[in-house]
Amino acid sequence: MPQTPPVRLLIHGASGRMGEALLRLAGPGAGVEVVAAVSRHALAGSAGKSVWIAAGELAKAPEFDVAIDFSQPMALNSLVAFCVSRGTALVSGTTGIEGTQRRVLEDAAKSIPVLWAANFSLGIAVLSELVRRAAEALPGWDCDIIEAHHARKLDAPSGTALLLGEVVRAGRGQPPHYASVRAGDIVGEHTVMLSGAGERVELVHRASNRDIFAAGALEAGRRIAGRPAGSYALSGLLFTP
Ligand code: NAD
Repeated sequence: MPQTPPVRLLIHGASGRMGEALLRLAGPGAGVEVVAAVSRHALAGSAGKSVWIAAGELAKAPEFDVAIDFSQPMALNSLVAFCVSRGTALVSGTTGIEGTQRRVLEDAAKSIPVLWAANFSLGIAVLSELVRRAAEALPGWDCDIIEAHHARKLDAPSGTALLLGEVVRAGRGQPPHYASVRAGDIVGEHTVMLSGAGERVELVHRASNRDIFAAGALEAGRRIAGRPAGSYALSGLLFTP
């Protein structure tokens, strides 16, 4: 049986918490091989077989099939342009991106396959389906989304809270209220609270390990590489056989 060669991966934001998890989990078992690790400043040495590259020197990257990005919103535009110039796929989980950057991603999807997702976990995909059903069934109730993350997280509310809020708005016609906690080393917690007169429903997801996001992003990267240009949704790519 001929073996499928591993998908060649460029990790953007490789020195960060998510980048570290991606570097650790990538490899033959995941069907991907890291060929380039990009961070704001190039780091000495190598990350496995890959080369460390500074963000300002992307052109030095060897050939790759897909870029996986967990960095900062301000870093995204140059990476998108670079992926378009190389004709490679792009998977991004960077949160806090604004309208103009969403349009940059939409434009890129005309020439390369693109997937942006606020959350790469299976549990959040299931939670958002439960939230949709609850919001539709309880349109007159108050709705609050409370999220908690580690103290160094820059954006608030989290991208996942905004995603769940959009599900709530679509289900009951009104957006929820948001509350954010930034403390310690919390990986990520989201509570959607629906409050009526004399009763309350709470739907909760707690991430205790960021490997779940990294594994989801690697699987998305493996599956999106080589596909036609377009904007891909996580549910379509990951959570269907
Ligand atoms: P981090 O601060 O630990 O790491 C950020 C990384 O980005 C570093 O490697 C840094 O060198 C790099 N970087 C910063 N500025 C850059 C620039 N101008 N050019 C290139 N690289 C640059 O952050 P983190 O905890 O790894 O999170 C990164 C992003 O991923 C955040 O937006 C976070 O909210 C998001 N995130 C998303 C998910 C998801 O499932 N979608 C899960 C966890 C985190």
